[in-house]
Amino acid sequence: MDKRTEALMAFLDAAHSVYHAADYLVNVLKDAGYTCLSEAGEWALQPGGKYYLTRGGTAVIAFRIPQQAPRGFLMSASHSDRPTFKVKENGELSGTYTRLATEKYGGMLMAPWLDRPLSIAGRVMVETEEGVRSRLVDIDRDLLLIPNVAIHMNRQANDGYKWNPAVDTLPLLGGKDAKGGLWTLLEETAGGKILGHDLYLYIRQKATIWGLKEEFISSAALDDLECAWGCVQGFLCAEDTDSIPVVCVFDSEEVGSSSVQGAASDLLESVLLRICRAKGLNMEQMRAGSFMVSADNAHAIHPNHPELADAANAPVLNGGVVVKFNANQRYTTDGLTASVFRKICEKAGVSAQTYCNRADIPGGSTLGNISLGHVSVPTVDIGLAQLAMHSCYETAGVEDIASLEKAMTAYYSCRLELTEQGFRI
Ligand code: ZN
Repeated sequence: MDKRTEALMAFLDAAHSVYHAADYLVNVLKDAGYTCLSEAGEWALQPGGKYYLTRGGTAVIAFRIPQQAPRGFLMSASHSDRPTFKVKENGELSGTYTRLATEKYGGMLMAPWLDRPLSIAGRVMVETEEGVRSRLVDIDRDLLLIPNVAIHMNRQANDGYKWNPAVDTLPLLGGKDAKGGLWTLLEETAGGKILGHDLYLYIRQKATIWGLKEEFISSAALDDLECAWGCVQGFLCAEDTDSIPVVCVFDSEEVGSSSVQGAASDLLESVLLRICRAKGLNMEQMRAGSFMVSADNAHAIHPNHPELADAANAPVLNGGVVVKFNANQRYTTDGLTASVFRKICEKAGVSAQTYCNRADIPGGSTLGNISLGHVSVPTVDIGLAQLAMHSCYETAGVEDIASLEKAMTAYYSCRLELTEQGFRI
C-alpha cells in the first residue's frame, strides 16, 4: 500500500474521538520537532522556529517562523469533529436491560449506526493528587450495539423510517444487572474518580481499502480527518517561503463552530496577533498579504443518484482536489481565490475539480465563511470528493489522498503575491 494511504489509515484508526484526533496530531508535530506553546505563557519566537498549541484539548494550530521578513500568513483550516452520539451526563438507563443515554452530536445519517459493534472514547476529568486532570479514555473493545427492530415488528422499515434519537438509537450496554458498571469501567480505565466527561460513541470497524482496483477507502470520519491529515502533511513537507505557514484543525464544525475551540472562536485571530506582536510585525499589513484554504470534504456524484448532483459541477472519487463554490457564500471561493488554488494544483501536478450544489438543493456549509468573520482574508473552499457524508462509515477515493497532500505541500511552499487585481505565484 502507498505510504501516504497507510499513514492516513493509521490516523483514522487511532482517532476514535475528537480528543484522540488532536492527541495524534500533537504527537506528529512533536515528532517533527515542534515546540508546544501555551496561551497562558510568553511567546519568544525564533527565526526558523516551529511551534504548536492546543485549545480545549481538541483544536490544534501549528506554525513556523521563516528566516526572512514575512509578507503574510499562508493558512489552512479543517476540522476534527464528526457527527456522532454523545453520552449524556447521567449515561446509564436501567430497565429490562441497561442502555446508554445518548444524544445526537451534529447532523448524522442515523441508520448506519445500527447493528454494528460500538464503543466509547473521549476525555474524562479525574481527581488526582495534583488536582483534577483531563485524561483520554478509549474503551478499546466491542462494548455496545444499537439493535434494529425486526422487520416482522416494523413492516414499514424499508419504506422510509423516521428515527427518534430518544428511542431508536439508545445503545444496549448489558443486562439488568449491568447498571453502574460503565462508570466502574471508565474509572478503572481513567485511574480515578470521574468528575466530568465528554464521551462519544465510535464504530469499531477500521478503515479499509476496497474496489476492483483497490481504488476506494472507507472509514469513520473521512469528513474531515482526511483533509485535516492532508493539510498537516502538506504543512510539514513544505519548503520555507516568505510567508508564515499556519495549519489549524478546529473542533465543533458539525455543531456550528461556536465553542472556545471552534472556528468561530478568537483562537486563530489571537494566535496571529501574538505572532505579530512577538515578531514586531504589523497585523493589518500581514493580514493583507495572507491567504486561507478552508479544507472540508465535498460530495462526490453518487453512483445510484447522479440526479442529485449539478450536471456540470459534480466531482468524482479519484478525480483530484475539489474546489467548492456557492453564490451565497456558504463556500467562500470566488474567481480570484479559485484561480490561486488552481494554479497551485497545476504546480503540484494535481487535477482540480469543481463542486456546486444543484441550485434547488441547499447543501452544506463549512468553516471557511465562519473563520472569515474573525480573520478576513481571501479564502478558497476545497475538499476531497466523498460519498455518504455524515454516515458513520464514509467512502472516498484512494488516489485523492496523495493529490491533497501534494496540493497542500505546493500551497505552503508557494510565494504568493496577491492584490485586488490579481496575483503572482
Ligand atoms: Zn466536514
